[in-house]
Parts: sequence; structure tokens; C-alpha cells
Amino acid sequence: MPLSLPIAIYVALLGLIIGSYLNVLIHRLPLGISTVTPRSRCPGCGEVVAARDNIPILSYLLLRGRCRHCKTEISARYPMIEALTALLFVACYWQFDVSVELLAGLFFCAAMVALAAIDAEHFLLPDKITLPGIALGLLLSRWLYWSGWRSALLGALLGGGLLWALAEGWYRLRGEEGMGLGDVKMLAMLGAFLGWKGMLVALFFASVSGSAVGLAMIAGGRGGMKSKLPFGSFLALGGVVSLFVGPAIVRYYSSLL
Ligand SMILES: [Zn+2]
Repeated sequence: MPLSLPIAIYVALLGLIIGSYLNVLIHRLPLGISTVTPRSRCPGCGEVVAARDNIPILSYLLLRGRCRHCKTEISARYPMIEALTALLFVACYWQFDVSVELLAGLFFCAAMVALAAIDAEHFLLPDKITLPGIALGLLLSRWLYWSGWRSALLGALLGGGLLWALAEGWYRLRGEEGMGLGDVKMLAMLGAFLGWKGMLVALFFASVSGSAVGLAMIAGGRGGMKSKLPFGSFLALGGVVSLFVGPAIVRYYSSLL
């Protein structure tokens, strides 16, 4: 499809700005601080971060990853989240052109980046992202070519129900919590956005990549059967994979049946 370079650049810049906001969200949401006010401060010296030091990626490079005042190191996560968000945004434009699907894709990718990062650090998937995510996915579903409201509703119920049953079964079997309700709500959100088929594709990729990393950790002597993995981070990865290639995979398997 013919893509326009100015729109691609605009979408990339939007990705950098949203990515910059996601950094604030990722840092503050688990702490229960407002993500709008107050302005960001350096954790080292407490100085308010000036606007010129808050330009996505560029400021990090110009400051060589250190606070202007106290030279405390700034986490490389900040520019990485910004770059990743911009990349995913451009990929969405590439895939969906200017459409409702693009809008859904941008929201979805931003949420996946935030959830993946928060779960990796805190083993937490905030309701403030997953619950509005479920609502937005259901709301947009009737306009999405891969979904429709029936598929989205079924996806949310099936996704939530499936993981809830797994978590409950695991708890009864092992007497310990293997998965939290955050994962349940997140898979419901994936179902709402991707439809029930896309949700299953996402769950498949999440399980495969999660198991691979788990086994690699055990093999590398860095963990055992009891080590905790942030399953939400893998769900986010599976969700993004499914957003881009899920419909093609579903079409392929449907053609086999
Ligand atoms: Zn400082």
C-alpha cells in the first residue's frame, strides 16, 4: 500500500512523545502517584527535569545518560521505551495505513509496552491500564476487520475465563499462586482487542516464549521451577505479535480446516 513519508514521520514523533509519557506511567503507576503532575524530578538530586532535558531519546544522548546537575545515571530504559514505542507506531501505520485499525493498534501497542515494563519490574499489571483496555477494545471491535463485537466479547470472556481457570487449577494443585488476577484481566484485554482467535494466537506465543525463557534460565543455572517470570511481559509480546501476524495465521489455519 502507498505509505506517505510525512505521515510516517508524524506517527514516529507521536510514538516518541507517547513513549516519553509511558516512561512516566511505568515509573509512577505502581507507586500510585499521578502521571500528570508533578513534573519529573531527578531521583539523585531532586532537581525538576527541564523541558530541554526531557526531549525523547535526544536529551538522553546529549546528556550522555546522566543528570545535568548531579550526574546521576539515567536508566537506559527511558530512551529504549521511547524508541520501541516509535518503532511499534510506525509498524502500525505500515500495517494499517490511516484507519480505525491504526487507532486501535496505537492504543494497544502503547498499553502493551507499559504493561510489559511494569510487570517485568514489579510483577504487577495495573487495573488502570487493563480495565480501560478491555472497555476500549470492546468499543472499537465492531470496526476492526479482524474482530467484530461478538469475537471481541467472546475473546474477553474466554481469555479471562481461561486464565482464571488455569490460575485456580494451579492454586488447587500446588497450593500456591502461579498467576495473578492481573494476568487474567490482561488476557481479557487481549481478547477484547484481538478477538478470540487473535487472543489464542497471543496466548500461544506468550506461552512458547515464556517457557523458552524459563527453560533457558533453568539451563543457565539462573533459576529453578519455582522462579517467578513476569507472564504479563510475555503476554504483551504475544499480543503485539498477534496484532501484526495473527489475522494471517488465523486465515492460514482456517484454510486447512
Ligand atoms: Zn540529578
